[in-house]
Amino acid sequence: MDPVIDADFYALEQLLAADGHQQVMKVRDFMEKSVAPVINHYWTREEFPHDLIPGLAELGIAGLACGGYGCPGGSSLLDGMIALELARVDPSIATFMGVHGGLAMGSIYLCGSEEQKRRWLPPMARMEKIGAFALTEPDVGSGVAGGLTTTAQRDGDVWVLNGQKKWIGNATFADLIIVWARDVADNQVKGFVVEAGAEGFTPTKIRNKIALRVVQNAEITLENVRVLEANRLQEATTFRDTAKVLRLTRAGVAWMAVGCARGAYEHALAYAKQREQFGRPIAGFQLVQDLLVRMLSNVTASACLCVRLSQLQDSGQAKDHHSALAKAFCTVRMRETVGWARELLGGNGILLEHQVGRFVADAEAIYSYEGTREINTLIVGRAITGLGAFV
Ligand SMILES: Cc1cc2nc3c(=O)[nH]c(=O)nc-3n(C[C@H](O)[C@H](O)[C@H](O)COP(=O)(O)OP(=O)(O)OC[C@H]3O[C@@H](n4cnc5c(N)ncnc54)[C@H](O)[C@@H]3O)c2cc1C
Repeated sequence: MDPVIDADFYALEQLLAADGHQQVMKVRDFMEKSVAPVINHYWTREEFPHDLIPGLAELGIAGLACGGYGCPGGSSLLDGMIALELARVDPSIATFMGVHGGLAMGSIYLCGSEEQKRRWLPPMARMEKIGAFALTEPDVGSGVAGGLTTTAQRDGDVWVLNGQKKWIGNATFADLIIVWARDVADNQVKGFVVEAGAEGFTPTKIRNKIALRVVQNAEITLENVRVLEANRLQEATTFRDTAKVLRLTRAGVAWMAVGCARGAYEHALAYAKQREQFGRPIAGFQLVQDLLVRMLSNVTASACLCVRLSQLQDSGQAKDHHSALAKAFCTVRMRETVGWARELLGGNGILLEHQVGRFVADAEAIYSYEGTREINTLIVGRAITGLGAFV
């Protein structure tokens, strides 16, 4: 019997229009030909492959969910399937694009004025300017909704920002950093676009991560950073506006988790077919097939859930709890799946050259960022019971 080789087991890609499908294939080709051969080199050295930015820019996928302002303007389904495709080869590159095209461009798209969108989105869509999104602080992670300590004080036409941020992806080299801070006058969270090189803005690379080592995360110190009122996101007046951005990007992270799991599964399947023990390919052993089918089940169930989430987004029905459930569910299934893939490779599962080990490590960061499993569970718990259980 001919083996069914496609990990898109329920043919979900068929839901895309022809041009969307073509675009996914273009991304797949780029990731397999340009990223896969070099990524371990960068991962080992905790460096970012800046040389790949022009190629990524040419794919025309930055800010895909945004319409107008030089942005591609695709469906949430296409956006999600592209996130899957990026993560399937490398979760770090997927995260880099998620921070730039999702969190940073999404903040400007959802919270910026017309003039601000016209000013920043076109060069960001062309990836001439790279964005970062600075919400988390050293002492405030899960509790950002109520506890941000970074302050913004208005002084005429200028705002003065003070505080610290942690984990900020792309921040060591980004041109535009969206900084979320609490206005001391009304105690509400507002968003500010800080330009690289601003006086008092100091990003320091976080070293020795065991996951997503290609992503350049930074701790940031903001010391009397002066930002023009024209750089304050005009439509962001409370944390509820920040949450709109997270609703969008959390869905993208769920798709990324599917990609990370699928990448590990595909490597494991290929390995199982060529690795021989007891005189036959290990893929022919029942217990190995059990592992493979469990992995495929996780990937397929998660992908189906994400497809429905994207449909809800595209029809304007998606709520915070829909994204939260998908993020929590898909990242749990991802963590389980990459573990099984590693198990299937035996000792080679911990060697970088066999790829699966990188997915195992990277999954740990995807599992925790953009809201941990606990926080996303509490969002869903509140929605189904009507009772908030955060504190
Ligand atoms: C690789 C990476 C990249 C990131 N990129 C960015 C970025 O670009 N921009 C940005 O702003 N942030 C970024 N983050 C931050 C990320 O969003 C936070 O790490 C995440 O929200 C969790 O916060 P924390 O790490 O401070 O954990 P904490 O909030 O300290 O949580 C620790 C543990 O306590 C649990 N917990 C907390 N509160 C509760 C509760 N009420 N009930 C039950 N359990 C609870 C958590 O679930 C977790 O298990 C990144 C993080 C990582 C690891």
